[in-house]
Amino acid sequence: MAGLSALAFDNRFTRELPADPITGSARRQIRGALYSRVSPTPVVAPELLAYAIEVAELIGLSERDCASDAFAQVFSGNRVLADMDPHATCYGGHQFGNWAGQLGDGRAINLGEVIGPDGRQTLQLKGAGPTPYARTADGLAVLRSSVREFLCSEAMHHLGVPTTRALSLALTGERVVRDILYDGHPAPEPGAVVCRVAPSFTRFGHFQMLAARGEADLLRAFFDYTVAADFPHLLDGRSADDAKLPLAWFTEVCERTAAMVAHWMRVGFVHGVMNTDNMSVLGLTIDYGPYGWLEDYDPNWTPNTTDAAGRRYRFAHQPAIAQWNLLQLANAIYPLVGEAPPLEQALKDFEVSYMAHWRAMMSAKLGFASLTEADTPLLDELDAVLQLTETDMTLFYRALVDLSPDQLDQDPLGDGAGPVDRLMHAYYRPDEVAGERRERIDAWLRAYLMRTRQEGRPADERRVAMNAVNPKYVLRNYLAQLAIDKAEAGDPSLIHELQDVLRRPYTEQSGKDQFAEKRPEWARTRVGCSQLSCSS
Ligand code: AMP
Ligand code: MG
Repeated sequence: MAGLSALAFDNRFTRELPADPITGSARRQIRGALYSRVSPTPVVAPELLAYAIEVAELIGLSERDCASDAFAQVFSGNRVLADMDPHATCYGGHQFGNWAGQLGDGRAINLGEVIGPDGRQTLQLKGAGPTPYARTADGLAVLRSSVREFLCSEAMHHLGVPTTRALSLALTGERVVRDILYDGHPAPEPGAVVCRVAPSFTRFGHFQMLAARGEADLLRAFFDYTVAADFPHLLDGRSADDAKLPLAWFTEVCERTAAMVAHWMRVGFVHGVMNTDNMSVLGLTIDYGPYGWLEDYDPNWTPNTTDAAGRRYRFAHQPAIAQWNLLQLANAIYPLVGEAPPLEQALKDFEVSYMAHWRAMMSAKLGFASLTEADTPLLDELDAVLQLTETDMTLFYRALVDLSPDQLDQDPLGDGAGPVDRLMHAYYRPDEVAGERRERIDAWLRAYLMRTRQEGRPADERRVAMNAVNPKYVLRNYLAQLAIDKAEAGDPSLIHELQDVLRRPYTEQSGKDQFAEKRPEWARTRVGCSQLSCSS
């Protein structure tokens, strides 16, 4: 089709793996297959709201291609190109700690794989109609959740966090009914489709499903496929039937997961639904649902109202949950490894690896070359100090670089002014920064500055290094909601503006200070800003 001829499809997943013999979207349990062929459902009036040129380029498309009618038609699910092979994949998963059986791509349809300038990418529509895995749901997505997924995928990428990408965001011209808080208030909302892009969308749950069904041969075949397609470097100097390959693979999945979660903790991201079906074996952040960004630093915070009771997926619990999820993956691939102790060891090593990532990350955020055991009290006290009164995590860390050890001499303890005076914009209740609380914060800042002085790093170098890991702009929950409100009223301009600002999250951008401010009071309790459900 004119406009998209640059897309070079090579559909390895469907070519090499067994398909469900039935096609179409009739709901069913499948056996002996990884996927079912199913087409996107055409929509009434597709309208492209936004696209990411960086992602278009990954698959060989230009600005001109993205502006074509063909692009809007294809990426809203209205037209299927001849070389595509649309399908939904089958996976299971543990949801909130319980085995849920077959889940699968209920509203995601893989269009095919494109060989782009930097390698293979799978194109996936989310919200393009039901698949065999839609269970009782409609296979659709609303604008609200689609804006959130589109903006956050790209924001995370530009923050340096491993993630699936988002190519496009399109309105369908149809209405989709959702009960946002599941409290008996269903209402129609604009329907939308996002095209997600990743080298692969393989989840822990794909392996779990095959293991749960006792399909040992298919488990092995899918493992071999995954290694060849997504982890080919593991075959350097090793044959595909090397007995140590499954363990080497699992070790790498653990390592990638540790790195990903450490990044989440660095930027203050709470995934919100870390079910094993939402964990990518590539260590990519996947499935942006009721995620949220920490505004005031609260390790126990979760944005997900569906998880309000147990707070299983709260901010500080994410590393432990990642390990729990890896344990489920280990159970699934146990038949390939054949013995438990090496898998148990790999899970223990995950903790070591995560802690190494975490220490390196904290060290970088604080502007140090590395941390030693002697820094433990400084780190522990930082965690406490951030919770003394509502403290904006992003603003606090970003402001540390503006404190210099020279201020230790200018602001001697006890004269009223202290380093904390330069951080007041990070506090939600500045009046609470008084008395003992204020003294304790100041004491920490002074200890931090003493440590910074010992470090002896040139100020310029320190500034560049700290500003490269402590973002100025993140997708604050209320900013996404403002963009949604406007888009629902017919104006997508704030989506574009946020998309643009979040391309350079570490760079001061003139005239964009309104995107780097703390959450306004009205957003403290508003649905969509501080509270989100799985409804999407
Ligand atoms: P999630 O919590 O978004 O990761 O979704 C869990 C499961 O529910 C996955 O299998 C999804 O594909 C499926 N699902 C969620 N929403 C819908 C929907 N509107 N239509 C069909 N399937 C859905
Ligand atoms: Mg999911």
